[in-house]
Amino acid sequence: MEPTEFIWMDGKLVPWEDAKIHVISHTLHYGAGVFEGIRCYETDKGPAIFRLKEHIDRLYYSASKIKMQVPFSKEEFTKAIIETTKANKMKSGYIRPLIFYGYGKMGVNPEGAPVNCTIAVWPWGKYLGEGSIKVKTSKYTRIHPKSTHTDAKICGHYANSILASIEVKDAGYDEALLLNAEGFVEEGPGENFYIVKDKKIITPPLGNILPGITRNAIIQIVKDEGIELKERNLRLEEVYAADEAFFSGTAAEVTSIASIDDKKIGAEAPGPITAKLRELFMDIVHGKNEKYKNWLTYVNK
Ligand code: PMP
Repeated sequence: MEPTEFIWMDGKLVPWEDAKIHVISHTLHYGAGVFEGIRCYETDKGPAIFRLKEHIDRLYYSASKIKMQVPFSKEEFTKAIIETTKANKMKSGYIRPLIFYGYGKMGVNPEGAPVNCTIAVWPWGKYLGEGSIKVKTSKYTRIHPKSTHTDAKICGHYANSILASIEVKDAGYDEALLLNAEGFVEEGPGENFYIVKDKKIITPPLGNILPGITRNAIIQIVKDEGIELKERNLRLEEVYAADEAFFSGTAAEVTSIASIDDKKIGAEAPGPITAKLRELFMDIVHGKNEKYKNWLTYVNK
């Protein structure tokens, strides 16, 4: 990874190499922390952060699900993200706020441990590489809503994503696809999932997935384009027979899927709807589409 100059830690910008914590920090051991992944893009008016408000809202929602008291208000955190992006002269890249339980208390229950907040930013290009990707369904079941708050972005949840990711990368694939306990398709380790069949888009419903902010954007864009989209359960057989498949996510943006479990999806990848959505999405994030200008927060106002 490419380091930048400063990391924001509990209210102050510190040099990247000095952003250190104690090894007896609670979250490091048990995973009770919350985070976000946000992107910032180059536009005609300088760098712009995509859907900052929605990311802040999800960050605080995630914190509330583990009863974590964030020592900064949403407004302060928003300002800190803009300040960190600016201080690092970031034109485009990734923004990673993390709120974690720090040093001072051990044992599973974090009550009494200090809550620490950090924001790092760094340049990050295409997460899943160029072109269409090879996907494999994972043997690991996606975390279950009866076990945890699956709609919160909690650090510990990513043990499930990591296992799936290691499994399929070891087998020579680009990304995993996770099913739920009932065998319905849910999402990737860090992406929401869609198929296109007969020019209509189908995506798994909310309930077990992380409600992606990119997913929310895709649903809005698709609606505005007059493309039909349904949120409903999908079986693998239906997925294999799709005309197109793609992932969405902050890191993955819109990534076309060429094959799933070695079954080629559709005639070509990216298919026409995936390609169109990717183009629309990339224009929007780069400030080239007035209709969605409210989704951008300009860093140099
Ligand atoms: N699902 C999971 C499990 C994720 O980690 C992410 C990345 N945050 C997504 C979906 C996509 O969400 P977003 O579009 O908000 O990045």
